[in-house]
Amino acid sequence: MNQELTISAINFTAAVVPLDRPVHTASGSVEVSPLILIDLLTEEGVTGHAYLFCYTPLAHKPVFETLLNLEPLLIGQKADPVNVRKILDGAFRLVGDQGFAGMAVAGIDMACWDALARAAELPLNRLLGGNNSSPLATYDSLGMIAPDNIESVLQETLDAGFKAVKIKLGFPDVATDIEVVRRGRAVLGDDVDFMVDYNQSLRAPEAISRIQKLSEFDLLWIEEPVLATAHEDSATVRSSVNTAIQLGENWWGPADMKLSLDYGASDFVMPDVMKIGGVSGWKKAAAMAEAEGLPMSSHLFCEISAHLMLVTPTRHYLEYLDVASAVLQSPLQIEDGAAIVPDRPGSGLEWDLDAVKHYQV
Ligand SMILES: [Mg+2]
Repeated sequence: MNQELTISAINFTAAVVPLDRPVHTASGSVEVSPLILIDLLTEEGVTGHAYLFCYTPLAHKPVFETLLNLEPLLIGQKADPVNVRKILDGAFRLVGDQGFAGMAVAGIDMACWDALARAAELPLNRLLGGNNSSPLATYDSLGMIAPDNIESVLQETLDAGFKAVKIKLGFPDVATDIEVVRRGRAVLGDDVDFMVDYNQSLRAPEAISRIQKLSEFDLLWIEEPVLATAHEDSATVRSSVNTAIQLGENWWGPADMKLSLDYGASDFVMPDVMKIGGVSGWKKAAAMAEAEGLPMSSHLFCEISAHLMLVTPTRHYLEYLDVASAVLQSPLQIEDGAAIVPDRPGSGLEWDLDAVKHYQV
């Protein structure tokens, strides 16, 4: 079955779901997961699913209401991402398409792509021309961990089969950063890829100083050492240290990514499928990364990102940080440090409707 789809309704459900592991960062903590589930219904009977992760309860209602306002613009329209994007671009032209608007647009885009894949009876990666034949390298993504807990937490990661792990840093003093990484590297050994994330918490001079002090621990990347908008500072940090700089989760659309690349602000890239503009935005980002020869990883949204990484020419690592499995029938499975990308049609999302009802707000 491969057919045109026409949007008949879009349903949104706000839910606050528990996190197995609350995420502590140098720029604030995420204790629960505020989600918006999207069901894009079509006249042909196919329904596309997607979810948005709103980071903070403060963003939950505004994004939800933005989505509600979009529905009337899309009823009766083809569920074709190019067509839908054109309509929504027009709607947001004068107000801008980042932030809450960008999140809403990306959610609709992801739901359209899921519907198209289901209509074609193909997994999303296959619809996009990929295949699922090689293991998808995946890293365990952790928060800030106190020095005395680092050994036990990383041992759990190793016991789960991961061959790569990221922790967050940015303790008040550099000595604690160093202690955590030193003790972490001792547990992991030399063969596990070890990454750290500063979540934009440093100014450039301090970032350079801290990263230089961490250089002996063979870190694969240092993520967001400075403000995500400080492209020039990031380029300065990058040229002053020997460890690779990783950026991308705060690029709002492909134009932000291009700006960062023009500054030479990072060695690696890791767009977030929501902030970069959904599946359509990801495709543009992946093409840019390929043109620049930059290894590309994902951020959050592990279920749909797993499909997208399979069609990313410079694919690097899938991030595993689960924010939605509490409402999913079949959460993404990881075996031996590789994500098992499901072969069923779509992007891999099926709601656990009892759980959705339980966590709905
Ligand atoms: Mg990060």
